[in-house]
Amino acid sequence: MKNFLRSACSECGGTVRPRTIITQEFEREGLRVSVSGIRALVCTKCDAVYFEPGGAQALVEAVNSLFALAKRNQQHKGKLVSAV
Ligand SMILES: [Zn+2]
Repeated sequence: MKNFLRSACSECGGTVRPRTIITQEFEREGLRVSVSGIRALVCTKCDAVYFEPGGAQALVEAVNSLFALAKRNQQHKGKLVSAV
C-alpha cells in the first residue's frame, strides 16, 4: 500500500482509477478483522493501491480500533467488520 496520490502508478506507470475496495482483511496476533468500503486509487495494471491524503491514516486508525475491540472481546472468536 502506498500513501502517495498520483495520476500514474509509480510501480508500473499504469493508470490509477478511483475504486471502492469491497473488503480488506487484516490479521494481527492471530486476530482477524476486515474493513469494507475503503475508497482508494487502484492501478488498472498491477493493482497497486494508493490512498487519498489522510486516507491511509484513517484506515490505520479504524483497523487499530477494530483490533482493540477484537482483543477486548477475544472470548468471541468471531470476525469484526467495520465500514468506513
Ligand atoms: Zn501499477
